[in-house]
Amino acid sequence: MIIPQVGGRTISIRLPYLILYLIGAVLLFLLVASGLYARYRLERIVNASAIAAQRAENQVLEAKIEDFTGDLVALDADMETLRRLDRQVRTLCELRLDEQEASLPVGKVSSDWRGKSDTEVAAKLDALVKQVSTRKESYSEVLKHAIDQRYTVDHTPSIRPASGWVVAGYGQRKNPFTGLIEMHMGVDIAAPKGTPICATADGRVSFVGYRRGYGLLVKVDHGRGCSTWYGHCSMAKVRAGDIVKRGQMIATIGKTGLAIGPHVHYEVRIGGRAEDPANFFLSRSERIF
Ligand SMILES: [Zn+2]
Repeated sequence: MIIPQVGGRTISIRLPYLILYLIGAVLLFLLVASGLYARYRLERIVNASAIAAQRAENQVLEAKIEDFTGDLVALDADMETLRRLDRQVRTLCELRLDEQEASLPVGKVSSDWRGKSDTEVAAKLDALVKQVSTRKESYSEVLKHAIDQRYTVDHTPSIRPASGWVVAGYGQRKNPFTGLIEMHMGVDIAAPKGTPICATADGRVSFVGYRRGYGLLVKVDHGRGCSTWYGHCSMAKVRAGDIVKRGQMIATIGKTGLAIGPHVHYEVRIGGRAEDPANFFLSRSERIF
């Protein structure tokens, strides 16, 4: 119904229900459509935000992977350096190289790891872990060898037992008491009574006491079948069982036993057999007979 201004006629219009329904349906459709569109826009905004966050995270991860790859390349190079040093040390120590190790070239480093697949990187990492284990075993062996060498050097007679004058060397000589030619098993070094007698290598005192001919005798066991004997002492400064170091005073020079004057009768025995002590004096100046 349309109501005009003053004086006009009232117009009454009747709309069929169908039109009203149609209008209502169109309005409802517009309402639903606008709602769906709004939701679509909102989802796009949210997705764009998530994608941006994901991209940022990916960039951080890529940077970390780049750093990680750089570390691996450096580690690979360091391992190769250690391997080269290991080979040099083993060669110097005359230690055998592992066959597999010996067959590998030295100095080869795979510097370009970028773009490698996860599987390839994992395999390289596995190889590096094995190399670390191999190096550890090798260094343990080298260390043991060095300790053994050190032990051997420390326990091998290498100095004169006393300062003085060498009055008799190793070998055949006329016995001053009997006049008979016989084997002299050691070296005689003469010096005033009381002059210190020192152990010529690290070892353990195995005997201190009197023995016929030798007088007061001190024996030092150096291990591996090697021992040194010091005879005609006037006084012993150690007891059986004592651990001694090279250069440590173990007795003093005297003339106990069969001795014409004060001196030390020095023997080096290997496997029980007397060897020429001169062969064990390292310094050329000490090899005067
Ligand atoms: Zn002698």
